[in-house]
Amino acid sequence: METFAAPPSYAPAPDLLAGRTILVTGAGSGIGRAAALAYANHGATVLLLGRRASTLDAVYDEIEAAGGPRAGIIELDLETITEEQCVRLANELGGEFGHLDGLLHNASVLGERRPIESASYGEWQKVIQVNLNAGFLLTRCLLPLLQAAPRASVIFTSSGVGRTGRAFWGAYAVSKFATEGLVQVLASELENTSAVRVNSVNPGATNTAMRRAAYPAERPDQNPQPEDIMPTYLYLIGDDSSAHTGHSFDAQPPRG
Ligand code: NDP
Repeated sequence: METFAAPPSYAPAPDLLAGRTILVTGAGSGIGRAAALAYANHGATVLLLGRRASTLDAVYDEIEAAGGPRAGIIELDLETITEEQCVRLANELGGEFGHLDGLLHNASVLGERRPIESASYGEWQKVIQVNLNAGFLLTRCLLPLLQAAPRASVIFTSSGVGRTGRAFWGAYAVSKFATEGLVQVLASELENTSAVRVNSVNPGATNTAMRRAAYPAERPDQNPQPEDIMPTYLYLIGDDSSAHTGHSFDAQPPRG
């Protein structure tokens, strides 16, 4: 698979996202929290979507303390999200903002790490629901708002195991492969007829709760912090990447 990267030493303009409205899923912690703060710091009104009000409130407060535009909070559990909830959300956002300039699908769960042979069907369904189905549903409901923006960027989050299969990564890996497929299908549908771009990003090993759960024996500080990979997230959500759609990005150089 051909992969892309942000330009080396990419330096986003301080007002890169001024006046933009961007929704981030899983915004209460990890990479999603860092992206929400980075987007707000570059001028965006960030809509913080997550399942826990306490962590979303904390990010909201951080944005306010840093002097960013007032954020929005969307408390939604992607494991149980319904079509009706999505439609209501789109109607509410349409009423308040009229359009959406960016959508970062970041929330995911790791699920169990075991062979397919003994994988639990319940866990499989949960991982595919949160990592894939919820992203499809949200995108479909929010597409009219994205198309109402002058230019919009949708980012889906992939993984190294969504590009090359690896034993014991089960539903998580499969959900990420499917995510890459969704990106390609959607980008191809929107190309030429829409100002909505769609790309994927593989953050690479990053020091978050998910990484620590996946690699408990690893020294956490050997990996970059979420803040360190934000240049790629800023590049992809803003107009500097306007030439890209349907592409798979790496936020870090592949490890040898
Ligand atoms: P974290 O586990 O730290 O964060 C995941 C986020 O998703 C959390 O905010 C979590 O909320 C949210 N989330 C999980 N389930 C739901 C749900 N049912 N409804 C709403 N929100 C939910 O992971 P990372 O920050 O590391 O991961 C971010 C993305 O990057 C993921 O897509 C992951 O697959 C990908 N990735 C990460 C890598 C890494 O090394 N960190 C490497 C490759 C890919 P809560 O806080 O409530 O749990």
